[in-house]
Amino acid sequence: MEEAAVKKSLNFIEEIVEKDLKEGKNDSRLQTRFPPEPNGYLHIGHAKAICMDFGIAQRYGGICNLRFDDTNPSKEDVEYVDSIQEDIKWLGFEWGNVYYASDYFQQLWDLAVQLIKEGKAYVDEQSAEEIAKQKGTPTTPGIESPYRNRPIEENLALFAKMNTGEVPEGAMVLRAKIDMASPNMHFRDPIMYRIITSHAHHRTGTEWKAYPMYDYAHGQSDYFEGVTHSICTLEFVVHRPLYDWFIDQFANSDYRPRQYEFNRLNITYTVMSKRKMLQLVQEGVVAGWDDPRMPTICGLRRRGYTPAAIRDFIDRIGYTKVDGMIDVSLLEHSIREDLKPQAHRVSALFDPIKLVITNYPEGQKEYMTTDNNPDNEEAGTRQMPFSKEIYIERGDFMEDAPKDFYRLTPGGREVRLKSAYIIQCTGCEKDENGNITTVYCTYDPTTKSGSEGSKRKVKSTINWLDKDGCISAEVRLYDRLFKVEDPAAYDGDFHDLLNENSLEVKTALVEKHLEGAQPGDHFQFLKIGYFTVDKDSQDGKLILNRTVSLKDNWAKK
Ligand code: ATP
Ligand code: MG
Repeated sequence: MEEAAVKKSLNFIEEIVEKDLKEGKNDSRLQTRFPPEPNGYLHIGHAKAICMDFGIAQRYGGICNLRFDDTNPSKEDVEYVDSIQEDIKWLGFEWGNVYYASDYFQQLWDLAVQLIKEGKAYVDEQSAEEIAKQKGTPTTPGIESPYRNRPIEENLALFAKMNTGEVPEGAMVLRAKIDMASPNMHFRDPIMYRIITSHAHHRTGTEWKAYPMYDYAHGQSDYFEGVTHSICTLEFVVHRPLYDWFIDQFANSDYRPRQYEFNRLNITYTVMSKRKMLQLVQEGVVAGWDDPRMPTICGLRRRGYTPAAIRDFIDRIGYTKVDGMIDVSLLEHSIREDLKPQAHRVSALFDPIKLVITNYPEGQKEYMTTDNNPDNEEAGTRQMPFSKEIYIERGDFMEDAPKDFYRLTPGGREVRLKSAYIIQCTGCEKDENGNITTVYCTYDPTTKSGSEGSKRKVKSTINWLDKDGCISAEVRLYDRLFKVEDPAAYDGDFHDLLNENSLEVKTALVEKHLEGAQPGDHFQFLKIGYFTVDKDSQDGKLILNRTVSLKDNWAKK
């Protein structure tokens, strides 16, 4: 297909950006930012925002900065700052500068003082509950605080006191004096500053006691930095007028950052809130933020997801103005598509059983040439040893098989050993408990793969491993963390919804080809699924995580 034919139409934000650039808005500058709060690890939802913020800057010759929205020291930490940077880079994006909202604490403070002096902000000494009670409803006006009209001098003195440490947390807040009857609830004297003394800030320590709130700090930070398109998710639509209001109070030129909103990403069978993820980590429900069941970027990475697959997924779902739920099988589709042409296809047996080829010469050994990836010639070939004693998957043999069983059964049909010979089953041996220990077969030496005789067609092909061509490995079979599609919609305790079978650990036999594989290397286990080497692997102990099964078999369950 020609390049032009596959070019997708613009999303609504690209349309806005193209129009703004064409019209010369903000001197035809394009500047975005990705503004995570360093209070948790990034998840796939953030990846959607990252692909937008960084991607659009890239596409239109603009710049995207990374800004840590670090205005709440009680939940923030440098551990998160570091992981966020690592994950963005891993996804394949580069920022212009790294900024911190905490860099602007003094500037923000000075502007708040200016607002107080203009009679547009006041210190309220009511409790959070009292303030909430006075908010009113969207159809009934709120009640004005008894502190609303205190003198400017008193406000200035109290605001200064809010930052000395003598005022306890919750005893005072600074509020913008806007309109307690506004139909937009966010205009009903929003809180601009609150006191936090219980935690030191990860960058400013205990220098500040009063910290700015999101609505005030976010827009101002955008303005200080020169952001042109401040892109966020739909829940901020109702905040936009306040975002504009704060900026209008201080702007001294025509330049304005503008906020645009797109739909948040929600994915079935998982939770996408940092608070709930933190709970899963702290309670030990999962092994950490990078547990391969987590929808975090580091969890997906450990699971075997690639940056290309994640970006492809984000590209497929697109950006709209309607919230919804994306089926996780779409994400799984993207990783299968990405790994299919690159992962080496290897034999792995989860429940191996010995198979002896009775007419194969004792002590003979040969090597079978196998494509590393039949879809990709560049992946090359490898040699698999083959001899009289091999292993097959237990399920590929059945002693008393029904007529439509096409694999091995005594006196049954011929079966091809992949990349090797055609064999036929002659019998089996059992231990004293009746468990089958060995399967016996004969082979047809004229049917070696690649030879003239290999053209003979048989109904089925099975995988095998030579007894000297395999190593054992731990396989971790990960599944969905939750049993229901939308755990966030559940009113009760979300622990009720956890899938108790989300991790199954097994020992498997895998090809020696995997010896020395490194964390992050990908393989396709033939007929089973995609696997990646886990970082817990050690010399002599290989551990592999199931990234995804070969087919979407959840749908059948
Ligand atoms: P959480 O609710 O999980 O704590 P958050 O929105 O508070 O997430 P931030 O660190 O503030 O997380 O988010 C940084 C940016 O990522 C914001 O612009 C936010 O809109 C965006 N973002 C967060 N979650 C999603 C999501 N599920 N889909 C799309 N964008 C998201
Ligand atoms: Mg947030």
